[in-house]
Amino acid sequence: MLGELYANGHEVQPRRRLDLRYDTRTVRQLLGTRAGEHCWRASVGEGRPQSRPLRDALDWLAAHQNEDGHWDADAFGDECAKADQTACENPGLVSHDVAVTGLALIAMLGADQEQDMGYPFFEDEIDAGTNWLRHQQDPDTGLIGTKVGHEFLYNHALATLALCEAYYATKSPLLKRTCQNAVDYISRARNPFGVWRYEEPPNGMNDTSVTGWMILALKSAERAHLTIDSDSFESALLWLDEVTDERTGRVGYTDEGSRSSRIVGANEHFPAESGEALTAIGLTLRLRLGQTDRSANPILEKHGDLILRVLPEWQAIGFANDMYYWYHGTLAMREMGGAYWDKWAAPMRIALREGQRQDGHERGSWDPKGPWGFSGGRVYATALMALISEAVELKAQEVEIETALGGLGYL
Ligand SMILES: [Zn+2]
Repeated sequence: MLGELYANGHEVQPRRRLDLRYDTRTVRQLLGTRAGEHCWRASVGEGRPQSRPLRDALDWLAAHQNEDGHWDADAFGDECAKADQTACENPGLVSHDVAVTGLALIAMLGADQEQDMGYPFFEDEIDAGTNWLRHQQDPDTGLIGTKVGHEFLYNHALATLALCEAYYATKSPLLKRTCQNAVDYISRARNPFGVWRYEEPPNGMNDTSVTGWMILALKSAERAHLTIDSDSFESALLWLDEVTDERTGRVGYTDEGSRSSRIVGANEHFPAESGEALTAIGLTLRLRLGQTDRSANPILEKHGDLILRVLPEWQAIGFANDMYYWYHGTLAMREMGGAYWDKWAAPMRIALREGQRQDGHERGSWDPKGPWGFSGGRVYATALMALISEAVELKAQEVEIETALGGLGYL
């Protein structure tokens, strides 16, 4: 059944989010021969189903979505009870429904990039989740969620990113004003000549972690042809320069080279030294904001080399897991490509496989073992790991297509 976003009298637009190299039709035209088509099918398949682990992850998310469309960070176990199952463990904090709903939606929308089917694969779930987020917006301010505590701008950034991705995918006019208002709120929350932290209006404090999500949301908005404050991008690059330790290549949290934050009594037993999340955020932002020339920007490889010194490793016992780092590291290394990607992706695949639950109602999800697992809970962990799985698979397809086209003399 088509939901509100897709019905509404508007023709569903074919989804064109794919890079040219992923586009089945374009590649077929490029290849243009039976041999070429055989090569294409052999290398990537057409409408190939998602890998079983990714599909299991998305199925777990779908099974734990509330009927009103949101994912409940702390009470998702209610969905297990409705299915006559023992409640899945590891709730997050009550204040993160908006953020985990945003992450789960981004994972579902991202998985659809692999389909090229014209319709979202989890269409009803995406539709319901998008509508729930849309209705969490304050019509006066544009803020999505409630202005409480230190997390509300994280929640808003993730919700804005998810809605902009959904708007780009569906072109639904219902989402345009919501997205623009959310983007305008982001602009008002930015420090003049600076970036973001916890306050709106801003109070002069900046940090790299919140800023990472804000820039990802603004880049998504830009792609969807929404109006953005383009000074944000220049300010973000200036901020990265300010907090980058050029000697080590480490990007700092609130000042030069400082480590990721930890909260006493909550997650200080996860050593900040076991991840380079901020460096990964910095590298991704630099690349996405146009600093792609490695000879002109030698700091790129310094960031990359530092990240490769702390590779992903799933620890069932221990405190080195850091999905937040792994997600941003995967984004960064995917864009670096080549040997950087190969060195990162191999252990990342192993960590994905070793951590994914195969038993009970938790099957398909990941235990939220890591510094921010107490906060986001199982929905957060599973959405992030699903997003990592998608990036790993899409990059593998990209490499296969490049190899196939290269072998036929097209690259
Ligand atoms: Zn469950």
